Amino acid sequence: MPELVPVIKKKDIGKAVASMARNISSDYAGRDLIVIGVLNGAFIFMADLVRHLSIPVEIDFVRVASYGTGTESSGHIQLTKDIEINIRGKDLLVVEDIIDTGLTLSYLVDHMKSFGPRSIKICTLIDKRERREVEIHADYAGHVIREGYLVGYGLDHAEKYRNLPEIYHLKF
Ligand code: 5GP
Repeated sequence: MPELVPVIKKKDIGKAVASMARNISSDYAGRDLIVIGVLNGAFIFMADLVRHLSIPVEIDFVRVASYGTGTESSGHIQLTKDIEINIRGKDLLVVEDIIDTGLTLSYLVDHMKSFGPRSIKICTLIDKRERREVEIHADYAGHVIREGYLVGYGLDHAEKYRNLPEIYHLKF
């Protein structure tokens, strides 16, 4: 049985979410913001983040398949659900659970640019720097973690553990 080692407590997740939401609300005051969540992992973070925003937003999701059921990035990214609202000329905030190699977000940012938005910024709950392969800058990052495979608060391993309220390091 893999071991679950606590890494980020509920209280610290809450503080990071509230702080990012304050910054986003102030940075986008008076603008038309579209928040795009990356499924499946960002569903819990996104739900908490948008409820802390004090500005009106439109919400949509994209879904990508890249990891399969293992812990290594395949590097092959497939878009399995696209944006469904018109983002031309709009400010976009892409909400991701975790950035690891950066390949998923760099693919998504390139894809979204093709629709002609006004701007694109990135918000991630966790910025994991150990295995970064492409340069990608998180405009809003909750926690920086050096290494390890994390689960909980939306993050899975083989679709399990997403419902855990805190974030754990999964040790095999
Ligand atoms: P990247 O393309 O940046 O390598 O990976 C991004 C995606 O890989 C994330 O959205 C997430 O689905 C998955 N991922 C990367 N690191 C982890 C991790 O530590 N735990 C889990 N559960 N998924 C991860």
